[in-house]
Amino acid sequence: MSKFVGYRCSVCGRSYGPDEVVYTCPQDGGNLDVMLDYEAIAARWSPAAISQSRDTSIWRYLPLLPVEDPGHMGSPLRAVGWTPLFRPTRLAAGLGLQDLWLKDDGRNPTASFKDRASAVAVARAQEIEAEVVITASTGNAGAALAGMAAAAGVPAVILAPKSAPQAKVAQLLIFGARVVLVDGTYDDAFDLTLQAAEALGWYCRNTGYNPFTAEGKKTAAYEICEQLTAALQESPDAGWVVPDAVFVSVGDGNIISGLHKGFKDLKALGWIEKVPRLFGVQSTGSAAIYNAFAAGTEQIEPVSADTMADSISVDLPRDGLRALRAATQTGGAYVAVPDEEILQAMRALGREAAVFAEPAGATAYAGLVVAVRDGLVAPEERIVVLNTGNGLKDVKAAMQAAGEATVIPPDLAALREILG
Ligand SMILES: *Cc1c(COP(=O)(O)O)cnc(C)c1O
Ligand SMILES: [Zn+2]
Repeated sequence: MSKFVGYRCSVCGRSYGPDEVVYTCPQDGGNLDVMLDYEAIAARWSPAAISQSRDTSIWRYLPLLPVEDPGHMGSPLRAVGWTPLFRPTRLAAGLGLQDLWLKDDGRNPTASFKDRASAVAVARAQEIEAEVVITASTGNAGAALAGMAAAAGVPAVILAPKSAPQAKVAQLLIFGARVVLVDGTYDDAFDLTLQAAEALGWYCRNTGYNPFTAEGKKTAAYEICEQLTAALQESPDAGWVVPDAVFVSVGDGNIISGLHKGFKDLKALGWIEKVPRLFGVQSTGSAAIYNAFAAGTEQIEPVSADTMADSISVDLPRDGLRALRAATQTGGAYVAVPDEEILQAMRALGREAAVFAEPAGATAYAGLVVAVRDGLVAPEERIVVLNTGNGLKDVKAAMQAAGEATVIPPDLAALREILG
């Protein structure tokens, strides 16, 4: 596995060998970036070679991942990723944008972006022969770990806040994970998970702690470029097409950090010509990273999170520094949107683009609306907005966005009356 050469700390810059550390920097607790041997990869692979793969999952990017192939072609792990990239023309027209794209990661096997991270973390767990994998989760990371662990036959333990939406808890249970609901916040569950992993010797998948989650999440950046190239009927021989800007919702900040890593990988390999501007979108009720961005500091202060977008309800973002830099180092920005605008975004995505998003998923689009209004993006720019989670995960929120259906007696007169 020569392409995986070790880790670099995002705080102090120290490097570590692949077997020297497991989670974070021993010096300062900083999150670790996985380092790859770009020369070795570029010598053997090219965008054109990867574009010929018939594997329609994240595993088409195995040459750029720090793990071995975790399963045969028919394994459910192979259902992760390669989610559709749409051109939502009505949404674009409404916003006055000429080149808008929407990637729907709600169509992953457990219906959220988190499958990308959990698939790679489970592959790693198998490699290091972990007996049990444990994670804290607001719901989706746990569902993804439970699903991927079930696919690989690895036991999983999930700690989630008691307030997690019922559908997400149902997912945890149906995949056979040991599910423990904590009478506290996600942050409480997070800290308890670290203690448990340490005390019991289990492998911990926690977001913004385990370096392999971002490696899974970066595959969305690869897909965006490769799928744009195909959709625009460009040849991959000259490299892949890269968008000007990408919008994604942010809680812990690991998705945006992973996307940043993915684009940086491709740039380092010479497979794209630039890294797009990355825009992180938070709820005003959970805006720790937005606050730091707005204040122009890298000091991220915890908040007391309160938002209906449960998947991004985070007091202290665990990948805050890298998430902040994903915007500042690319010329992007952070945007905060109130819950009311998130509900509006859910309606717009459903009605204008046929995409059913959970609140945290629709938050990215709500942020794009603000960015257009504030002139942070130009009408002709090529923009990709991600939906990170499926609306069926939180039906209560969907009903809040869409309203209730009308009930009538079964006769035509009543139907006529109601239809006006
Ligand atoms: C986890 C999650 C996010 C945010 O990802 P972070 O890495 O915590 O920033 C956004 N949307 C959905 C649906 C999620 O599950
Ligand atoms: Zn360090």
